[in-house]
Amino acid sequence: MRYIGCHLSASAGYMGMVKTAEGIGANTFAFFTRNPRGSKAKKEDPADAARAVAALADKGFGKLVAHGAYTMNLCTKEAEAREFAADVLADDLRRMAAVPDQYYNFHPGSHVGQGSEAGIAYIAQALRKALEPGYPVTVLLETMAGKGSEVGGKFEELKAIIDAVGSEHVGVCLDTCHVYDAGYDIVNDLDGVLAEFDAVVGLDRLKALHLNDSKNPFASHKDRHECIGQGSLGVSTFAAIVSHPLLAGKPMILETPNELPGYAREIELLRSL
Ligand code: FE
Ligand code: FE
Ligand code: ZN
Repeated sequence: MRYIGCHLSASAGYMGMVKTAEGIGANTFAFFTRNPRGSKAKKEDPADAARAVAALADKGFGKLVAHGAYTMNLCTKEAEAREFAADVLADDLRRMAAVPDQYYNFHPGSHVGQGSEAGIAYIAQALRKALEPGYPVTVLLETMAGKGSEVGGKFEELKAIIDAVGSEHVGVCLDTCHVYDAGYDIVNDLDGVLAEFDAVVGLDRLKALHLNDSKNPFASHKDRHECIGQGSLGVSTFAAIVSHPLLAGKPMILETPNELPGYAREIELLRSL
């Protein structure tokens, strides 16, 4: 089964997103758990969540891939800001319990000069604490482009976080634009990159993908998403990804610069490949 979807606005609630997803041919979706550039979360609506749980099962949707706020930096320099980010993470995981057994993806963080080792330790500490109550959610570390002091541009860093947390509820979401910008050549050697991921992290930890073309060339460390087929990755790379046996059944989420009609066309294109 191919589970393909895109980022949707959470303003109409879970049921609103399920309906929008169906309307554009999606059978999974992503959404921000709170204002992506702030930290304010929506009021919780248990009845809406309960209806969505039933609808997702009934319609055979793949797992959802929620996205944490961009402002949530678990390894920032100031202790107070770090604690605030850790509290946001813990609250997001608590909220995810309303739709059990989905994924929650987030950007590991930027160590802002403290070094990736210190960053990894802070991220792991926050994750251990947030996972402690045992909410029914699996947290995904997003592969990053390695821009500035971003943690997660190397598979080894993701592996170090996973090992330091020591929970089955931690996986990875592979963003195609980010890994290509980070220097993993999925255009010419997708099999080699997946073999490297398997050797370093283990493919059992790879739970979801973000499908984005890239505005920039290989290893540019930039992170600018492009529409499918219009960037440096090209349609043939996405054809290989959506039909790769090692990636079968994993939710694949578009985060391309599109409105809903553009997403509908890209979903249709990906299903045709
Ligand atoms: Fe992201
Ligand atoms: Fe992404
Ligand atoms: Zn990105």
